[in-house]
Amino acid sequence: MAKITSYKHAKKLYFIYAAIGILLMLIAQSPFSTTVKWVLMVLGGLLIIGAFVWVIAFYKCPICQSHLPVSQGLPDYCPTCGKKLE
Ligand SMILES: [Zn+2]
Repeated sequence: MAKITSYKHAKKLYFIYAAIGILLMLIAQSPFSTTVKWVLMVLGGLLIIGAFVWVIAFYKCPICQSHLPVSQGLPDYCPTCGKKLE
């Protein structure tokens, strides 16, 4: 079975999505019209929420499928099953 996304890839994408979301939120603070501000805020919010959903769905141990700690760096070993992660 082909791997769609590795856990490392998932975490990288999570940071990219969240960063774009935060960026949109910041851009929305510029003096645009209310409509533009709302669109940017909603898009930014959706990206940030999407990033969280994404990391919860895909940032898992490839062996036991348990969730890995997002706040720390990439672990060498799974904290749940203790297997070495590649
Ligand atoms: Zn594991």
